[in-house]
Amino acid sequence: MRRFRKAKIVATLGPSSSSLEKIEELFKAGADVFRLNFSHGSHEDHEERVRMIREVEKNIKRPIAIMMDLQGPKLRVGTFAEGKIDLKPNQKFRFDLNPEPGNSERVYLPHPEIFSALKPETDLLLDDGKIRLKVLSCEKDNAETLVINGGELSNRKGVNVPSVILPISALTEKDKKDLNFGLGLGVDWIALSFVQKPEDIQEAKNIIQGKAKIIAKLEKPMAIQCLEEIIKLADAIMVARGDLGVEMMPEEVPSIQKKIIRACRFAGKPVVVATQMLDSMIYSPSPTRAEASDVAVAIYDGVDAVMLSAESASGQYPVEAVEMMDRIISKTEQDPVYREMMDSSHLTPLKTVADAITASARQVAHIINAGVIVTFSETGSTTLRAARERPESSILALTPNLDTARFLPLVWGAHAALTEKVHSFSQMVETACRIAVAEKFAVHNDQIIVTAGVPFGASGGTNILRVARIEE
Ligand code: PGA
Ligand code: MN
Repeated sequence: MRRFRKAKIVATLGPSSSSLEKIEELFKAGADVFRLNFSHGSHEDHEERVRMIREVEKNIKRPIAIMMDLQGPKLRVGTFAEGKIDLKPNQKFRFDLNPEPGNSERVYLPHPEIFSALKPETDLLLDDGKIRLKVLSCEKDNAETLVINGGELSNRKGVNVPSVILPISALTEKDKKDLNFGLGLGVDWIALSFVQKPEDIQEAKNIIQGKAKIIAKLEKPMAIQCLEEIIKLADAIMVARGDLGVEMMPEEVPSIQKKIIRACRFAGKPVVVATQMLDSMIYSPSPTRAEASDVAVAIYDGVDAVMLSAESASGQYPVEAVEMMDRIISKTEQDPVYREMMDSSHLTPLKTVADAITASARQVAHIINAGVIVTFSETGSTTLRAARERPESSILALTPNLDTARFLPLVWGAHAALTEKVHSFSQMVETACRIAVAEKFAVHNDQIIVTAGVPFGASGGTNILRVARIEE
């Protein structure tokens, strides 16, 4: 089973999409990666979903990537005696460390670290940005604020502090527990929420120990200031426009999105655009045309994947949303303008042997009109470099390593398949041709491009390019 598009689809699972049948339907409709959102659901729920995804994987005989998404340090206010209050513009309002229920003058903010980071003039946003306050003064156990935009504030609503690096790690105690649980389930990707600085990724890496790939969610303006280092440390990046959009003005999001995509493509790291892509499909069987355009814009920018959140997790039309994304991606990629854009944004290869080979593979495939580039890659790193080329031909990623086959579904154009290790040129050619035909990337008499590393069996070091013809 092969897909006729390059960009991938990440679908979040939730109450609307957690039966074996539904997951299989979502996969068939086009979902390449399933996301488990640890902000919701119990460990048992997620464990059951992992079990079902692996069962679908076995039925369909295609590797599927599982992404666990950690909640991260989402700050929340405490509770109110009356359940909620009404904040009026120009009134004062205090946050403190007193756990007693709040009123219209004060509320508990159970995050002592924050108080030391706040300064007069700092903006505080409440309830997804609906309420805006300005800090007037700050002590080590409380902060006095002025209400700029008022509104109703109820128990445990979220607090965002856009302009400050908070002295908190991206991993809370809950995240650490969830992370260990997820690693035990064998998830392939771990999404880190509210990454603020490169050290946040390093801290996660120390725990994960290479057992899964890390995707850093960029949803704090502060993270953009060290974008380069974050990209260098992470295995992939998510443009998490939900929270990013709360902390930034709407007009700032499009250019930041483009900037992140560009930096990721330059580094050869997968990049995912997330949140509200087909938002209206939570309630409606078809999207607004503006949403269709939003998905297409990400595709024209050359992203690796686009993501569905509530649309597939809790919406009324999860399968339709995936089908719609599949259709928009396919149509966009067939547009000659898309190919022009990929070619004109083509990136200079690094001065490495692997890049020289993968850049040549793209060129040779183009000149002789070969439909597929086959990469032999244990770790998947050569496949990532081949994807960075954004070639017109398909990329058939052969690997003897199940972990590699399972992280690649997030990567632009990569169709991963498991194979035995090859030990000779003839075995390499035979294997590449056989799987290219079996996976429907080539037919009799087609020419295919093969890249691999010799000596065979040693890992790393792609250094050969071979053109082979499919024989009987
Ligand atoms: P979330 O992350 O859905 O976990 O909040 C995505 C986003 O903020 O866009
Ligand atoms: Mn978020």
